[in-house]
Amino acid sequence: LAADGSPPTIFDNIISGKWDSDKIHEDDLCLAFRDITPQAPVHFLVIPKNRDGLTQLSKAREDQKELLGHLMYVAQMLGQKECPDGFRVTVNDGKDGAQSVYHLHLHVMGGRQMAWPPG
Ligand code: 5GP
Repeated sequence: LAADGSPPTIFDNIISGKWDSDKIHEDDLCLAFRDITPQAPVHFLVIPKNRDGLTQLSKAREDQKELLGHLMYVAQMLGQKECPDGFRVTVNDGKDGAQSVYHLHLHVMGGRQMAWPPG
């Protein structure tokens, strides 16, 4: 179990460096790396380094607002660099949200024209 009592996920291995990942950004609070199964020409994930209960967005606590804002800020900073014509930021939450890894992550996708609404 992680320090917050939640089960380990594959992202723990990416953060610790045990597993290789194509990292594009790292700072004190977060890590961004390319998705292993990209759904667009550009597709990367932004995750908090310290999950601290944030297995999913709907577990967010008020004292984590600054961290959540930081993740969003980094997502747009990298998004506009890699996708000058625009991009999409997505968070899948829980079963109906089609979440598969229970460590909060922002998907940033671009490099092609997106469709709306999503499936
Ligand atoms: P979710 O469905 O939870 O929103 O998204 C999880 C994402 O993590 C998926 O898009 C999946 O392709 C990605 N993913 C799963 N395992 C790995 C991995 O080992 N390395 C990388 N880079 N991405 C992964």
